[in-house]
Amino acid sequence: MRALLFDGASLSMVDRPDPHPGPGQAVVAVLGAGLCHSDLTVMRRPGDAHPFALPIVLGHELAGTVVEIAHDVSSVRVGDVVAGYGPRGCRICRRCVSGAMNYCRQRPPGLFPPGLGSDGALAEYVVVDADSLADTGGIDPLQAAALTDAGLTAQHAIGRALAGRAVPNVLTVVVIGIGGLGHVAVQLLVRLGIGQVLAVDVSAEKLTLAADLGATHVLLAGQAVEAVRELTSGLGADAVLDFVASETTLVQAARMVAIDGVISVVGVGSGRLPVAMHSVPLGTRVDVPFWGSRPELDQVLAIARTGGLRVDVTAFALDQASAAYELLDRGAVRGRAVVRPDRSTIDGPPA
Ligand code: NAD
Ligand code: ZN
Repeated sequence: MRALLFDGASLSMVDRPDPHPGPGQAVVAVLGAGLCHSDLTVMRRPGDAHPFALPIVLGHELAGTVVEIAHDVSSVRVGDVVAGYGPRGCRICRRCVSGAMNYCRQRPPGLFPPGLGSDGALAEYVVVDADSLADTGGIDPLQAAALTDAGLTAQHAIGRALAGRAVPNVLTVVVIGIGGLGHVAVQLLVRLGIGQVLAVDVSAEKLTLAADLGATHVLLAGQAVEAVRELTSGLGADAVLDFVASETTLVQAARMVAIDGVISVVGVGSGRLPVAMHSVPLGTRVDVPFWGSRPELDQVLAIARTGGLRVDVTAFALDQASAAYELLDRGAVRGRAVVRPDRSTIDGPPA
């Protein structure tokens, strides 16, 4: 099979033997592999900072068709179209048993999600644990792939940030960074009936997308703090979801959030947020959510299935994946870039 290999310094296309499943595993022919900004962070790590062995095939957002299963697998069948739940856990701690492998308390060493430590989906085939596969229920695989992280992480972050807030239409929520995750977050917040969904980005095109998706106001990053204060009569936002988490955006988040509000640090930027009495408004809660639970993946797939959410997908062939990462790095991907390893070319202009 063809696979895009990361060797610690660069990406290259290689031919490898087709994989076969070990016990409990399935082989999926990949129909969609989403490109996440986290991959850029992984690729920028110094060579000795990877907790896993190199080289590796990246791609942790995946959907495709099951083409082979191990003899002990009964949860999926050959021919099923599936999406991959990424987080891996011990399966026995309380968090894992509840489906929240993203917060496994044991974190068994050497156990990595596909694309983030074991070989991932930027290849024609990927081997996965069969019980991590969710039925897409007829959703387009390009959508389903992106929903496994861009969708799931946004859903999870929102659920935590708004837990206990009963009346959505009086709330103001800020979304900083209208990229793959942020543009899904805007849609989920609009769907929840949040009174003011304020979208912030450095790019006018991303703000146009946010407005198209129903954001009540779109704000260029430079003016966003003042605008959020103005739109909330000086009070600030009930929740600020920071999908960038640079030094700049975290400072802005602290200045935008209301007393007794929430700052959700979803981005894996290099910023640091000083949290102490009087460095953030009184009662501020800071959350650092990671990915999402298996039940939340099922929720987000169900929302998409009923038309409540649509990832703005730009498709690329496997040969174009490196170029797509460069576009992502420049902030030039609208919505989510999703690679189709089943296609050698993509019709139409790559957006
Ligand atoms: P993306 O590149 O698609 O989107 C980032 C967006 O932020 C772009 O629209 C860009 O224009 C905008 N942006 C950049 N600088 C900005 C600034 N100063 N102010 C406002 N907007 C700015 O990225 P993505 O794939 O959506 O990922 C977003 C972040 O979430 C990344 O840091 C990624 O690593 C992280 N992430 C975290 C988790 C988690 O579990 N916590 C999961 C997936 C991704
Ligand atoms: Zn566990």
